[in-house]
Amino acid sequence: MNAPFFLTAPELKQFRAKLLDWFATYQRDLPWRRDRDPYRIWISEIMLQQTRVAAVIPYFEKFCARFPDVRALAEADEAEVLRMWSGLGYYSRARNLQAAAQQIVREHGGTFPATEQHIRALRGIGKYTTNAILSIAFGKHHAVVEGNVARVVARLEAVRGDLREGSRWESLQRTADHLLAPDAPGNWNQAMMELGATICTPRSPQCLLCPVEKFCRARKLGRQDLIPEKRKKRATVGVQLATAVLVDDRGRCILLPPPKNGAGKALADDIPTLVSKMWHFPTVAVSEDPVSDLRGYLKNVVGATAVLSRFVPLRKIRHAVTYRAISLLPFLVKFKELPRVRGAKILLLKDFSSVPVSNLTRKVARAALEAADHS
Ligand code: SF4
Repeated sequence: MNAPFFLTAPELKQFRAKLLDWFATYQRDLPWRRDRDPYRIWISEIMLQQTRVAAVIPYFEKFCARFPDVRALAEADEAEVLRMWSGLGYYSRARNLQAAAQQIVREHGGTFPATEQHIRALRGIGKYTTNAILSIAFGKHHAVVEGNVARVVARLEAVRGDLREGSRWESLQRTADHLLAPDAPGNWNQAMMELGATICTPRSPQCLLCPVEKFCRARKLGRQDLIPEKRKKRATVGVQLATAVLVDDRGRCILLPPPKNGAGKALADDIPTLVSKMWHFPTVAVSEDPVSDLRGYLKNVVGATAVLSRFVPLRKIRHAVTYRAISLLPFLVKFKELPRVRGAKILLLKDFSSVPVSNLTRKVARAALEAADHS
């Protein structure tokens, strides 16, 4: 393959040396960089999807302490895995992790596979994660392209247009493949990602501190702030939900379980999965009036007593999940004695540590606690 047009062969050699030297000196000390264990690298890569490094670190450390290897994760209770993930969001990642760990035990005797074909076949693992594990854990020649690398490469080559459109992403992958340092693929990939995360940032890249500035076409053209071009956004969909916090005098409340395999399907169809797949307060999508919608739902789930109670409105909660803008109307419903609900848990409103709940449920609990403090 020929060198990318912006680099001659001697420049490519120099480019690699400069970036690797820079990485050796300035890389951040991150817990998943301290060894080459494919299990830990895999966990970190999945956690880092959609989540910032600073937020991932404490989760990574706790998760790996609780599930130190593939077998421990495979054999764990799913609720416990979700509990350890609780707060990181996008919970399908945790479910996929566990399913993949079980696959590794079943198909590879618990040893993390080392080939592209076998890693790619694992649940929840795409091309990027496969390449990251192959290069970092096994030293194989696979270049990664994720958001950071794509931005760096696009700026180096001064690529125009939406990077995810048409064949641009494949073209970035080809350039990344070509740039990959053959003697240090794992460090190379991490160096490219580190450059994008710390220097060649989405806004205001710090070109004066960049180890490869002299090779950068966007910098030469003064276009570094204009590349990559903005993506066309998917239109935001507004969702209005109403939720009921049923509490007693002792500050205990009712949480409903995540529906299993079609059980509670009516609920799951009604509301976004982030509410229905974790332990949650009784919640409905609002069609007309939030209180009557909630009363109708509670009558079926909790029984007639809930319908007779007073619904005290709490502060409205806004929550964004990808393209959904959720507006949630919570109501406090007080009881002397909480009604019994099949499969539900009764927990202290201020302590959900024993079950997996979403960030949205935590926000509702906070609103209910604030209201209780002021009543
Ligand atoms: S010179 Fe600037 S735009 Fe180019 S790679 Fe370095 S930080 Fe990014």
